[in-house]
Amino acid sequence: MKELIFLEPVFKETIWGGDRLGKDYGYDIPSDHTGECWAISAHENGTCRIANGEFKDMLLSELFKTHREVFGGIEGEQFPLLVKIIDARDDLSIQVHPDDEYAAAHENGSLGKTECWYIIDCDEDAQIVIGHNAKDSAQVKEMIEAGKWDEFIRVIPVHKGDFFQIYPGTVHAIKRGTMILETQQSSDITYRVYDYGRLQNGKPRQLHIQQSIDVIKAPFDPASAAGENETTSFVQAGVKRLVTCKYYSVYKITVSGRTDLPNHRPFVNMSVIEGSGLIDGTPIKKGDHFIIPSGYGDFILEGDMTIIASTV
Ligand code: ZN
Repeated sequence: MKELIFLEPVFKETIWGGDRLGKDYGYDIPSDHTGECWAISAHENGTCRIANGEFKDMLLSELFKTHREVFGGIEGEQFPLLVKIIDARDDLSIQVHPDDEYAAAHENGSLGKTECWYIIDCDEDAQIVIGHNAKDSAQVKEMIEAGKWDEFIRVIPVHKGDFFQIYPGTVHAIKRGTMILETQQSSDITYRVYDYGRLQNGKPRQLHIQQSIDVIKAPFDPASAAGENETTSFVQAGVKRLVTCKYYSVYKITVSGRTDLPNHRPFVNMSVIEGSGLIDGTPIKKGDHFIIPSGYGDFILEGDMTIIASTV
């Protein structure tokens, strides 16, 4: 039987980060300004190391290069997905990502970025930014150049368990008091539109006004950010499909007792976000992230836990 591949996360300190990745998840974080845990990543800006088994100590990027069979022989230069946990103690900048086409032309052939958010936890009055209120591209430009932020951005309330799909060209921002599991294309290209005038080491962080105006789509369609309709999304008891797009499918698996899951995917990313239990007898707990390799086949989950799973 093929082995599960457990990963050691990489942490990123940010001006808006907090200490919950240490407090709530027990990770050994570098400081109380730790904003991101790159939990399943082969990105050059932070690639995870393999924690167990025959590939122990290898980087995930290296494994993807040298053992493509582990990932069902999928095509591509780089491991396609990146899974993060984000602890926003403060507001993140208002930002937008390019699509593959724009990124290829303007960012040295990099991938664009489609991403999605599962709200793991948030303050009672937490909000996020998704979309804008401009009626067309001319008004996007006008509002950004005039700094009409309150008018421009679309702020909505969020609750634990909410899910949002963020396509390229969608203005967005995670706001304070929110813990999110983000599944995204493996890209790190972000255009910052507005940063609340904050300073980092005495200087404002770089903004990317022209690129943002280039890529922001108008008008914004709120339906594009919604997850799938709940009534059609139960693929089987305990499993809910959150979204399927060109780049990934994301599922929420709720285990209470025993769940048997069929699996023929090239690989599956698994992140335990609550509780603990077993996968085929191997103990797993909140904060564990692992990959089910190609050829592993069906699996059995037991215990009391919530898992966010993703695959291509
Ligand atoms: Zn983003």
